[in-house]
Amino acid sequence: MEFSFSDTQRELMVQIERFGREVLVPNWSQHADDNNIFLTESWRGLAEMGVLGMPFPEEYGGMGLGAVDTCAAGEALGRAGVDAGTLLSWGASSILCGVPIWKLGTDEQKAKYLPKMCSGEWIGGFCLTEPGSGSDAASMATRAVRDGDAWVLNGSKTWITNGPTGHHFVVTAVTDPTARPRAAGISAFVVDADTPGFRVGKKLDKLGHRTSPTSELYFEDCRIPASALLGPENYGFMLVAKLILGWERTCLLAPALGGIWHGMEVACKYAASREQFGRPIGKFGAIQEKIADMRVAYEVSWGLLYQVADKLDRGDDNVLTEAAVLKTYLTEATVKCAEEVVQIHGGYGFSKEYLVERHWRDAKLGTIGAGTNEIQRGIIARAIGGF
Ligand SMILES: Cc1cc2nc3c(=O)[nH]c(=O)nc-3n(C[C@H](O)[C@H](O)[C@H](O)COP(=O)(O)OP(=O)(O)OC[C@H]3O[C@@H](n4cnc5c(N)ncnc54)[C@H](O)[C@@H]3O)c2cc1C
Repeated sequence: MEFSFSDTQRELMVQIERFGREVLVPNWSQHADDNNIFLTESWRGLAEMGVLGMPFPEEYGGMGLGAVDTCAAGEALGRAGVDAGTLLSWGASSILCGVPIWKLGTDEQKAKYLPKMCSGEWIGGFCLTEPGSGSDAASMATRAVRDGDAWVLNGSKTWITNGPTGHHFVVTAVTDPTARPRAAGISAFVVDADTPGFRVGKKLDKLGHRTSPTSELYFEDCRIPASALLGPENYGFMLVAKLILGWERTCLLAPALGGIWHGMEVACKYAASREQFGRPIGKFGAIQEKIADMRVAYEVSWGLLYQVADKLDRGDDNVLTEAAVLKTYLTEATVKCAEEVVQIHGGYGFSKEYLVERHWRDAKLGTIGAGTNEIQRGIIARAIGGF
């Protein structure tokens, strides 16, 4: 792989990291984390910096940049130590909801949704998971039935990021229950949250990413116009899944990549200042090994992530296996590094005073969301063994 950042991309990262440190980090509070409060001011800040609309064309209020640029921004925010909840909400809105609208939407859909998503006025979300279907997403039960010039949706979704705050959602539903494979009978729709029959259910209390609101959503005879179909009927799921896959496993993971760097810096600072046995703990080989392993994890993850993002920018979205390798390695490295940062802080790492416990709680989602790592390993093994 021959890939390196351009000077413009390096400058973009410097600016965004500075903005993250100076504006977004101080806007987080323990109170917000304890009480699952969405940080509206941080959202406005991301909009003003152009981050919410980074990949979308300028005619829709975006910056017209690519996957590499968007990842660089996400990495910079992670390096700054911006709370992972805000960045998850960004990913769910701009990437999981915005990218399918941008790539598959009609001119009318793009003109309606993208400008207000870029400006931060409207938050989006993506609805795939249901109470009975997680990893086996195509076994979903939510139905969409055509009725004249409308579709009528019935069913429920769960674990929906931005569920309580979203203005609209890309929703997947079965449109042909006889189709085999089942994924070939599923379509995607854009559903506005003020549609009669759409209801926000229970808000979910989570281990980490607590500034990102998550909830159940219900569709009860929810009647949406025929024009709400996103992409072709019965192939929406396949197209959306294919599109989201590469973008999700790069842009949504980029903050975690930056998070490894951030954790390494925090650990080094502490190891230089905390003294035991008459010297800084950073002088001990056991501590140095942990810090060295963090740097190795960062470098390997960096190569894996930008390799996939670069492929997307070159118009090649055939990234299933590379994205699975990236997702598996990076998310497990993130958990391991966050744990070692806590370990380096000793008992203080276990207290809320140093924030490192928050990074550890946040890190765990990576191995579960966006297709669990067991599912990723299945993809990798099948690609190798042809099973
Ligand atoms: C904070 C958070 C935010 C989320 N946001 C969204 C969102 O915005 N939109 C959305 O649609 N979803 C969202 N999700 C849902 C997420 O994508 C699912 O939780 C994930 O896909 C796993 O599904 P599940 O929880 O039902 O687990 P299950 O599929 O029930 O899996 C349980 C366990 O069984 C294992 N397993 C299952 N099948 C296999 C297999 N074939 N081989 C080996 N092991 C297997 C899994 O790896 C896992 O360890 C979110 C989840 C969380 C926690």
